[in-house]
Amino acid sequence: MVNKQLKLILVSTPIGCLGSGKGGGVELTIISLIKGLILLGHKIILIAPKGSKLPFESELLEIKLIDGIDQPSWQHQNKTDPVIIPSNSVLPKLWEAALDLANQADAVINFAYDWLPLWLTKTQGIKIFHLISMGAESLIMKEIISEISHLFPFQLAFHTKIQSKDYDLKTDPIIVGNGFDKKNYLYNKNENGPLGWAGRIAPEKGLEDAVRVANDLGEKLLVWGLIEDKEYASKTENIFKKEIIEWKGFIPTNKFQEQLGRCRALINTPKWNEAYGNVIVEAMACGVPVIAYDLGGPGELIEDGFNGFLVKPNDIEGMIKATKLVSKIKRKNCRDWFEKKATNKVFAERVENWLNKGLNKNLSAEF
Ligand code: UDP
Repeated sequence: MVNKQLKLILVSTPIGCLGSGKGGGVELTIISLIKGLILLGHKIILIAPKGSKLPFESELLEIKLIDGIDQPSWQHQNKTDPVIIPSNSVLPKLWEAALDLANQADAVINFAYDWLPLWLTKTQGIKIFHLISMGAESLIMKEIISEISHLFPFQLAFHTKIQSKDYDLKTDPIIVGNGFDKKNYLYNKNENGPLGWAGRIAPEKGLEDAVRVANDLGEKLLVWGLIEDKEYASKTENIFKKEIIEWKGFIPTNKFQEQLGRCRALINTPKWNEAYGNVIVEAMACGVPVIAYDLGGPGELIEDGFNGFLVKPNDIEGMIKATKLVSKIKRKNCRDWFEKKATNKVFAERVENWLNKGLNKNLSAEF
């Protein structure tokens, strides 16, 4: 190992336990990053809500589970809503546990998109790093992220450039992308499968547009993901009299990738500034081209005409046209792109660089 071994405390999302799907893409980000950091020889203490499960064990990994009530997610609140901390909330408890152990660690990494850990950064001797997982969905979050950027610019990182543009930052943003364990995704060369869509079933993910595309092509749409908004799911299911959606449920990565890999294309239809878009890269890892709206992360993951197509947001006609052309994309390009840009190893190396940069800066006054 070239670099010094770091002792790191990782604090998980407070929105749900790892494996529940409630935390969205952040859950897999944490799991992949832990594996990547362990591969690089670092020591990890993971602090996560009770019920969290990791699909592997390691001598370099210790897990502390904390009981408490889930935090509400910012993406379903209004822009000007205040910070909410429910009674018996898991969020402050995760942080009490983290700060109790902080003197044994080189750094703490926060994965919660929430106000408290960001604010705590100002009060602690230990360096708290934040991997920001969403665009600016709320004013108070935008304010605190901007404040931390001005005080400790090297302690913030983002998944994509376009996501970071939502915030008023002191310096150029540190972009770490995301990463996935390549052993978990098998390349599938079959070009003739069905159309797929994956994500939380919630309005900001725009499933209804993919349903319209499948309907126009006279096909079924295979849909994977946690139903977060039941009313929205049922409305989307009933847009057409004909049954278009084939619900596949929320399933673990090994099954998900196997089923996803059989698709000839993944349709991705965000209606918000998608911070990254894990499912896009997971599809590409299996060799599945992705046709996505150019809104947020997809614009930095899809090279138009190489590993998929980018379509103007909300342009359903454009989506239909691009879907008809999907056989022009070589499935091998998708896997190659993934192996080069988004394995958990390259992700962990980018995170390691970020941490080293942040740890070697002494005073916020330098900036
Ligand atoms: N996912 C899963 N099983 C499923 C469908 C989805 O584990 O059946 C996971 C997928 O691996 C991804 C996450 O759900 O990590 C969705 O993350 P994404 O970044 O696409 O969107 P987010 O929910 O964070 O907005």
